[in-house]
Amino acid sequence: MPKKNPKAAGPQRATAAQIPGRQIKTASKRSRERASAESREIVRKRAEVEAAIAEARKSHERLREAIDILPQGIVFLDAEGRYILWNRKYAEIYNRSSDLFEPGAKLEDTIRVGVARGDYPEALGHEDEWIARRLQKLYQPGEQHEQTLADGRVILIDERLTADGGVIGLRVDITELKQREASFRLLFDSNPVPMIVCALDGERILGVNDAAIRHYGYSRDEFETLTVRSLQAFDPELPWGDDRSSDEQTARTWTHVRADGALIDMAVYSRQLVYGDQPAMLLALMDITERNRAEARLAFMAQHDGLTGLPNRNLLRQQIDDILLHTRRGPEKVALLVLGIDNFKAVNDALGHGVGDKLLRAVAKRLRSTLREEDTLARLNSDEFAIVQTGVVRPEDTVLLARRLLDAIGEPYLLDGNSVVIGASIGIAMSPGDGDESDKLLKNADMALSRAKSDFRGTFSFFESEMDARAQIRRKIETDLREAIRNDVLRPYYQPLVDLATGRITGFEALVRWPHPERGMISPAEFIPVAEETGLINAVGGLMLRRACMDAAQWPGDIRVAVNLSPLQFRVGNLLSQVTDALKHSGLPAKRLELEITETLLLEKSSQVLATLHALRALGVRISMDDFGTGYSSLSYLRSFPFDKIKIDQSFVRDLAANPDAQAIVRSIISLGKGLGVIITAEGVETEVELNCLRNDGCNEGQGFLFSRARPNAEIVSLLSAGRGAAPMEGAALVA
Ligand code: C2E
Ligand code: MG
Ligand code: MG
Repeated sequence: MPKKNPKAAGPQRATAAQIPGRQIKTASKRSRERASAESREIVRKRAEVEAAIAEARKSHERLREAIDILPQGIVFLDAEGRYILWNRKYAEIYNRSSDLFEPGAKLEDTIRVGVARGDYPEALGHEDEWIARRLQKLYQPGEQHEQTLADGRVILIDERLTADGGVIGLRVDITELKQREASFRLLFDSNPVPMIVCALDGERILGVNDAAIRHYGYSRDEFETLTVRSLQAFDPELPWGDDRSSDEQTARTWTHVRADGALIDMAVYSRQLVYGDQPAMLLALMDITERNRAEARLAFMAQHDGLTGLPNRNLLRQQIDDILLHTRRGPEKVALLVLGIDNFKAVNDALGHGVGDKLLRAVAKRLRSTLREEDTLARLNSDEFAIVQTGVVRPEDTVLLARRLLDAIGEPYLLDGNSVVIGASIGIAMSPGDGDESDKLLKNADMALSRAKSDFRGTFSFFESEMDARAQIRRKIETDLREAIRNDVLRPYYQPLVDLATGRITGFEALVRWPHPERGMISPAEFIPVAEETGLINAVGGLMLRRACMDAAQWPGDIRVAVNLSPLQFRVGNLLSQVTDALKHSGLPAKRLELEITETLLLEKSSQVLATLHALRALGVRISMDDFGTGYSSLSYLRSFPFDKIKIDQSFVRDLAANPDAQAIVRSIISLGKGLGVIITAEGVETEVELNCLRNDGCNEGQGFLFSRARPNAEIVSLLSAGRGAAPMEGAALVA
């Protein structure tokens, strides 16, 4: 550190000229008077001059004080390069002692002394040449230049000629600035974050760091021919907009083009700075392409179905509400169609989930290509899609669309070499009539879909407000049924099965009865579907099995009991143990238990269902096919499992007398049964005519009101004990 020299710290005074005095002598009084007047004049003048000198000194003093407080060093030289005046800072910068800083001393001499003392490391080794260049700069000024001193300080020198051929020189200590610049360079060049310095207008790239070169793939030279605007993929606006004066490091996202043509999302932090000597922008760039992609993926996933890429229920709800908002005042309606694939589970079970997934994708594609671009398509859950149709003028517009959709879905699909044919059902709700917000429309369209599925599978159904009432009744049944199960009020009633040849009772079918406190006896046709929908069927089925086996164990002889099973009981997986437990508890021999299943169970044709059926049969239990003839491919199911009994559905029996077709069907079922060695039972026998027909055709068994309705166990017990198990009943008497 340079030591301050207090002596050199003060400015030096230039000397003022002295005015010499004179002696005046007078000869005469006049001349004395004249002389005294003259001397008065002289005194006055002298006073004037002295005042002027004092004033000049004061001004000089003021100037000196003024330049002393300047933060820069300042020096005045005359035309010969001699010191006239300098300030405290100037002396401080050069750490000069007063011997060199005499007024009238030549700058050139102080430079030479300085060089000799080693004050200027830049001069080392070529001192004369350096001095010559320095002096040249002194008298041809204009450009600033820097000077490094022995202690490392850097001084900026700015020298100008004055009007009288002298020089005013400014000295600024820029050591700190230089250090800052150096550390900035280091920080810039070796920063792992890509950085660019560009002109304030963004047109010219003034500098880039290594990270930017690596990241963008342009060489340093190529960069210099580019502009910030030309890096941008879409918008020639500058990242910092009009906000160039702001010193805040706000990030803006920009899409840039890399040398290989790839588009990258960059977060740009900009900050104004002086680069060299021009105002510029420093841009720190962060690649957020991956982050943006991940965010976009997440946002997409939250609103779309992963399998088909279609909007999911969440997004659909938003879309519906948007559409409703925009169409609210218009005369046109909006239709929401919910499409459910019929028996999708069967495809999944039969061909595997891989094929199931492909089927869903194919369905999505077909639906999309059947729709107009402005129609919305979404996937609601595994086998349900939703379509929003706008601009509906008449309901027929929606009918046409529903038909088109069903036709498209119904065409065969070729999936992994399998030709798959599926059907679908559609439920339709219209806004504003059926709801003016998404949730209500979805709920109502769903209700219409359930109706379409249960009533007419393979077609469509419009929502009707009566469905809503029905849904409410169903909900009431559900709560009441839970209560009934909890209070154990469900009971089996028993309807006899009669051997048509002998008129003897061979067994009874257990039919569930629900005595409802308000509604009286509720038909199973009403509550079994609700039990199936809500999963309560397992409880109902379980208690029927236990009760029927307990009751039948008390019956005499080998009278059998038949229990109905719902397909849903096969899905839970504990059916087999339910059956074995019921048999064990009651002590009923397995051969006296019959289980009735319907075709819908075999529609699923899953290996698990067949395995359970075989296991049940292996116990000695008999398996009957109930309601035969009502499904589409009853015959083919007979091949998939060796049934013990076929029960002809009552709809054929009902028509026997009047309809020759029904007669033909019943006859062929009977002969089929004979061929297969299976017992044939006719359900719903109500009249003697029917009975005679059946008996003539060789039908084995009958069941129906003609013989008896279903009755409580107490009546069955007394009935059986009276006839010891073989007594024919009212109608059965006719058989004998
Ligand atoms: P299903 O198994 O076909 O039972 C025969 C149905 O026909 C019974 O109706 C019976 O009362 C009725 N029926 C019998 N003879 C005649 C007749 O001569 N004329 C007429 N019109 N009908 C006759 P129910 O008891 O109302 O049962 C209806 C259906 O509910 C049953 O049809 C069966 O599928 C189901 N179900 C009944 N109990 C149970 C049960 O415990 N579990 C399961 N899963 N389903 C049951
Ligand atoms: Mg039955
Ligand atoms: Mg039946």
